[in-house]
Amino acid sequence: MSDKLTTSVLSIGILTVSDSCSENRAEDRSGTNLCRLIREENLINGSVAVREIVPDDADTIKNKLMDWSDVKKLNLILTTGGTGFSQRDVTPEATKAILEKEAIGITIAMITQSLQVTKLAMLSRLVCGSRGQSLIINLPGSVKGSEECFRFALPGITHAVDLLKDNSSQIQQTHTHLQSKGVHQDTKQMKSGHHKNEHRYHGENHHHHGDNPQGHHGHEHHHHHHGLHHEQSEVDATRVAHRPRESPYPIITVEEAVSTVIKHTTVLGTEEVFYKKSLGRYLAEDVTAKDPLPPFPASIKDGYAVVASDGEGNRLVTGDSTAGTVPADSIKPGYSMRINTGAPLPPGADAVVQVEDTVLVRDADDGRTEVEIKIMSLPKVGQDIRAVGSDIKAGQVVLSKGQCLGPSELGILATVGVTHVTCYKLPIVGVMSTGNELLEPDEPLREGKIRDSNKTTLMTQLEEYGYPVVDLKVAKDTPTSLLTVLKIGLEKTDVIISTGGVSMGEKDLLKSVLQTDLKADIHFGRVFMKPGKPTTFATVNGPRGKTLFFGLPGNPVSAVVTCNLYVIPTLRKMSGCPYYQRTLMNVKIEKDIQLDPRPEYHRAVLQWTDGDHLPTALSTGNQISSRLLSMSSSNVLLMLPPKSAQRQMVTKGEIVKAMVIGQL
Ligand code: AMP
Ligand code: MG
Repeated sequence: MSDKLTTSVLSIGILTVSDSCSENRAEDRSGTNLCRLIREENLINGSVAVREIVPDDADTIKNKLMDWSDVKKLNLILTTGGTGFSQRDVTPEATKAILEKEAIGITIAMITQSLQVTKLAMLSRLVCGSRGQSLIINLPGSVKGSEECFRFALPGITHAVDLLKDNSSQIQQTHTHLQSKGVHQDTKQMKSGHHKNEHRYHGENHHHHGDNPQGHHGHEHHHHHHGLHHEQSEVDATRVAHRPRESPYPIITVEEAVSTVIKHTTVLGTEEVFYKKSLGRYLAEDVTAKDPLPPFPASIKDGYAVVASDGEGNRLVTGDSTAGTVPADSIKPGYSMRINTGAPLPPGADAVVQVEDTVLVRDADDGRTEVEIKIMSLPKVGQDIRAVGSDIKAGQVVLSKGQCLGPSELGILATVGVTHVTCYKLPIVGVMSTGNELLEPDEPLREGKIRDSNKTTLMTQLEEYGYPVVDLKVAKDTPTSLLTVLKIGLEKTDVIISTGGVSMGEKDLLKSVLQTDLKADIHFGRVFMKPGKPTTFATVNGPRGKTLFFGLPGNPVSAVVTCNLYVIPTLRKMSGCPYYQRTLMNVKIEKDIQLDPRPEYHRAVLQWTDGDHLPTALSTGNQISSRLLSMSSSNVLLMLPPKSAQRQMVTKGEIVKAMVIGQL
């Protein structure tokens, strides 16, 4: 294959540094696992030429590394173990002593990505670099840590080894390969090591098994465009035994997940909307008043329009001014005119005296005509009059760009006579479910089946927020069925939300379909939270441009929690809301709650007690994520911290943060 990154097979050495497993391979679980990753999972196009276990002794380690690089001329040497802080840990020192050049970038790549998994990665002392033609990489001693770091370093390893071998033809190929993907993609892939890693993983896997219909697919997947012209998925889901047994996605924090999603979210364009249809929309322009309000000097009271300088005392009454009319006469000194609230002040008058401050002096026509009244309080100029423009001046901005249009704002539009406003577009959201077990709500239950609830919950929640929703129906757990539904979503919607199919089962195929068939960028595939760990977020280039894809977990409660955490803020940002983050508040805990090792989003209902300055949160009970009943009527998610040595639980009366997700 001309565009495969490496054509020659690398020779690899694995050096386990450990006092405890001294020559006993069975106990060397990390070394064994690294071998497996290379031999069985084909993470890298190479073969393990030597594998040894040495004690934590600096000279032994140095000698071994020198032998492997200078004499055996291995391309890649991985060490595992001896990198900690205890007295006997000397692997990094021994490595550093024999290196000719350090490769700090690989160290940084491993450490930054490890930090997303555990803060303790800051204690990592891994050293990487080259000696002769060998690339030497320290990995941690644990099975998990060594595998993770190896995966994190992978994107750099192949190219580094090519450079060391000074194999110019291969370097040329790699550069051309990266360039052909465009600078944009190139830098993106460099930044997200795990992502490229994952591409490699799938590519190599296909290659290894030779299971691709075209029989030649590896990295060249990148060169296809959207793959939208294919009807069949290219994902082979039949090799159950060879699926990964541990998620290759680094687990990231909720904060990182939210900010990643927001980073990839852009505000949509604008459109003109009829004011009555604009409820809940965000304004994309300022709205100004053409006319002043009130447009005429208007009375605030029912009473008499007078000339203030006449003072207290008697006035003759000449006619009236009622709301909605134009006064027939003007007022001369010594006269008054009966006036109603909201009616125009007659010319000549400069004050209104409320009827309560007057007495009748003389009437006529059997009480049908007021002839004369007496003003009992001294009127001041301008008293009880709303001057022209005192509420709204002509040309004044009455609503600003970014404002949400609620009932009062629609009233303001009506007042100023603006019946069409420019608003941000609303994202069209497609909702799909996945699973062979799912029935429609109106179907009778059959063996092994359950009814699909997620689609109903999510669609109605989004409709409640005012977003146009497209029902993308239920996909079966087959690559082609998933691909078909996703393609419909890409054609019709800006955001696709699916539930299920993103965890570790052999029927969880969404990520493979997204990558292999749709060339999606998967930005994360695991989040450190409960519930909702397998939450996946990707962007896909489709016929409508960049479409966001949220792969929410299938468990009904997980789906709703993750929709609230990730999807709603995204949709708000897209629709022009400047404050798209969820509302947080302090609440009191009603009962002790045991903390989980993961940060937990615990469903609760708020209750206000007289005299208490904070509401009390009543847990909705059993929080197991399949139990949709714990979701019912909860209006907050308690944001519980992860369990730590210092803090095992939150206790009754304690104050915790809560995210508002329903009506209070
Ligand atoms: P999954 O993430 O696909 O492995 O699904 C996890 C669990 O959620 C399984 O018990 C599924 O049966 C259940 N589940 C998945 N999708 C739905 C849905 N749309 N409605 C109700 N339950 C579902
Ligand atoms: Mg499923």
